[in-house]
Amino acid sequence: MEWDKSASSLLEKVPPFVQKTVREKVETLARERGKTMITEAEVMAARESFMSRQQNTTPTQGIAAAHKPTDNKKLAILKKYPKYFNKDGNPVLYQINSCRGAEVHCPFLITDSHVLADAIRNRLEKLKFTEKLINKIEGQILPHHTMKLAVSGCPNSCSMPQIKDFGAHAIEPVCVDPESECIECMKCVETCREDAITVKDRQVSIDMEKCVHCGLCAKVCPSGSIKSGMKKYRVMIGGKVGRHPKFAVEILPQADETMTLKALDVCVDIIVSSKTERRFRTLIEQQGIEEIKKRI
Ligand code: SF4
Ligand code: SF4
Ligand code: SF4
Repeated sequence: MEWDKSASSLLEKVPPFVQKTVREKVETLARERGKTMITEAEVMAARESFMSRQQNTTPTQGIAAAHKPTDNKKLAILKKYPKYFNKDGNPVLYQINSCRGAEVHCPFLITDSHVLADAIRNRLEKLKFTEKLINKIEGQILPHHTMKLAVSGCPNSCSMPQIKDFGAHAIEPVCVDPESECIECMKCVETCREDAITVKDRQVSIDMEKCVHCGLCAKVCPSGSIKSGMKKYRVMIGGKVGRHPKFAVEILPQADETMTLKALDVCVDIIVSSKTERRFRTLIEQQGIEEIKKRI
């Protein structure tokens, strides 16, 4: 199908690796509308159609963003990396890693990491994080400006939340139930990799300084002397690699999804409202972790 000059010029502004897909979609829609030539109006109509179908995409991203010459300039370097764009070519300035525990039936799995990862993704879209970050950064947007997040299904932390701007892993806090009689099978002691459990004279104690809340002892205890409570998340922020790597700092030791997303809101606000383009870890150190905790 023939494209006129203005439509072709709009297509050229879309990242090269998705131009073929965009072209096909625009032409399909134009055919459905009984058109034989692609004009700017057809591209705009396709854009409206794409946006209405995208639950996870904000209206000013994507093809709309390609209309803004300043945004295109800002994204020039990121366009070399497909991971910073979704399948429709819209910029996505965050990356969320999840562990594969649920898919591989991991024996350590507490909670499917994709559940929280999806909630985080939806929240970032609702907060228009990508759009706000593009607006905030004045020059070229570089990979280190994007937000890195990770969720793991247990404290083993295979998706490495400790080195991300925002990370969480599932936990299953345990406690000793004095109503249940310990039979001294010692399965809990053998299971605990942290050497956190002591059993003596049928009295069970857990050293909470050592315990990482993996919940495994409660799973093997046949008497119910060790019980697990509500599954939660340990939330940490400010991890980074690079020239001066740092582990993330714990911000919520035991949070439900609502609190975790509230912590995310605060972190996003710190990033997008900061006048500087410093790394998130630096912003945290400037504000102070205790002050940030008070905002959650
Ligand atoms: S983080 Fe835990 S649940 Fe996820 S894959 Fe690793 S060991 Fe399994
Ligand atoms: S929850 Fe895990 S780390 Fe904590 S005492 Fe039980 S087995 Fe050990
Ligand atoms: S697994 Fe349960 S019953 Fe066995 S020693 Fe530990 S607390 Fe006692």
